[in-house]
Amino acid sequence: MSRTFTIIKPDSMRKKAEGKIIDILLSHGFRIAAMRATRLSQEKAGEFYAIHKEKVFFDELMEYMTSGPVIVAVLERDDAVAELRRVVGATNPQKAEPGTIRAMFGKDVTENAIHASDSDENARIEAAHFFSEEDYCL
Ligand code: GDP
Repeated sequence: MSRTFTIIKPDSMRKKAEGKIIDILLSHGFRIAAMRATRLSQEKAGEFYAIHKEKVFFDELMEYMTSGPVIVAVLERDDAVAELRRVVGATNPQKAEPGTIRAMFGKDVTENAIHASDSDENARIEAAHFFSEEDYCL
């Protein structure tokens, strides 16, 4: 068993797609170890995406990620990080495999429906932005 971290992003919440997305995650064998709805402040979004600070798309990314509520969650299953990346699909929804969450719910390279951690270490770091030990039910 391993864990990964996800954010159901504001565009998905605006479309009321969060229920469908959670259903897909469960159908792929993920269990919810911790979950809550929240809204990212500029500061929190900036910390979370600090690695992209110098990118040309950083301001657009900040505007998008703070534009409405999100759901943050820690998910558990075997090989969680790689499996979630596979279920989520490519960053650009137009290039994502059919059947992936981004292919189904994403619009473009910014509004791409969902975040998925890219390594075990980043999953731990990202989860710690939002959850502490007492939040975990698994
Ligand atoms: P991910 O791991 O697939 O989410 O991709 P990255 O870590 O490279 O990028 C983080 C997030 O920044 C993406 O999920 C997008 O929301 C956004 N993003 C990435 N690349 C671009 C880009 O070229 N242009 C814009 N506008 N947004 C981007």
